[in-house]
Amino acid sequence: MAKLSVEELDLEGRRVFLRADLNVPLAGPQPEAGEWRVADDSRLRAVLPTLQHCMKSGALVILASHLGRPKGTPDPKYSLAPVARRLGELLGQPVPLAPDCVGEVVEARVRQLEPGQVLLLENLRFHPEEEGNVPAFAQALARLADLYVNDAFAAAHRAHASIEAITRYLSPAAAGLLMRRELEALGRILERPERPLVAILGGAKVSDKLALVEHLLERVDSLLIGGGMAFTFLTALGHGVGRSLVEPERIEMARQVLAQANRLGVPVGLPVDTVVGESTECNEGRAVGIREIPDQLMGLDIGPQTLARFTQALRGAKTAVWNGPMGVFERPPFSQGTLGLARAVAMCGAFSVVGGGDTVAAIHQAGVSGKIGYVSTAGGAFLEFLEGRALPGVVALTDRS
Ligand code: AMP
Repeated sequence: MAKLSVEELDLEGRRVFLRADLNVPLAGPQPEAGEWRVADDSRLRAVLPTLQHCMKSGALVILASHLGRPKGTPDPKYSLAPVARRLGELLGQPVPLAPDCVGEVVEARVRQLEPGQVLLLENLRFHPEEEGNVPAFAQALARLADLYVNDAFAAAHRAHASIEAITRYLSPAAAGLLMRRELEALGRILERPERPLVAILGGAKVSDKLALVEHLLERVDSLLIGGGMAFTFLTALGHGVGRSLVEPERIEMARQVLAQANRLGVPVGLPVDTVVGESTECNEGRAVGIREIPDQLMGLDIGPQTLARFTQALRGAKTAVWNGPMGVFERPPFSQGTLGLARAVAMCGAFSVVGGGDTVAAIHQAGVSGKIGYVSTAGGAFLEFLEGRALPGVVALTDRS
């Protein structure tokens, strides 16, 4: 990797600002009464190797993250207190939470830290300057530490103060172990994939993913498209799709992308059948051929023939990358395409990389996460990286040379 890694730093007795993505789902009755709990601690577990490495190396760790969208003002609903508690349980030692992330009180708390100890700062987004990437705020954060480590790959597509501007005042800026693993796994797809390389895209919105489709066409051996986004492509090909999700202003671009795939000789697999229902809320579905979608119904999952074709297309693949569910997998009648595809990706023998909250949830639901080559913690950053865009949080890290 071209960027400095945390393992290359001498951490003994140094104050390390560790930016992590601890933005986890919370559940519980009353946040104010401290009753909220971490509902899914995968992101906390993912940062443990870096955290423990820093602690064992004798660093004084100042851990920072955002949580939710508190609109730039303190709000107990978005306090990191439940995160501090769960992290303490995972580490086997209490993780104290500072009352804020900048200012004299926080600086005093940092002065009390001993080597090997960790202090969690309160939600960075309680200050609007965080998302504004404001230099003075970044400087106030930088004052707390001697070194910077970024392990928040899932937030690396955001030019925020604790991710980008802080590196102007605190150096070296190194990649954490999770950041490094994510960059290596995703880099393996873009830079030196074992071929054939098959990409699978799904999810609701075609507008979010057209740029990605265009970028991937130059790199993949075949592309499979399911989910709501497939219907804009099917419309571009002249199919009637009933009330299925279509973005009319993207039809022309979808047509151009398909023409481009044709020129490049990259096969694009689209659904040949679909499971239709009355709405995304309904609990009954039936499979129909793609030419037989009734006017008043919507396609809410790929059908069994499409799943069989996609499974076939994955056979022999050496690398597979997947983002976005094949249907409204949250509802049982429309989950079979996504769960079936999860099993197909897991069983096809390729080095597979899967990213995005829904897709990762489907992998877990199908019980196949152990058979996936790499499960990314990121959604937006995963897509932007695959689009070939430079991620501000990665660019800002210190070059190894
Ligand atoms: P995205 O955030 O764009 O990846 O979209 C994920 C969402 O797409 C999930 O909540 C799915 O329920 C939804 N979805 C997938 N397929 C369809 C479809 N055919 N029609 C409507 N929504 C869909």
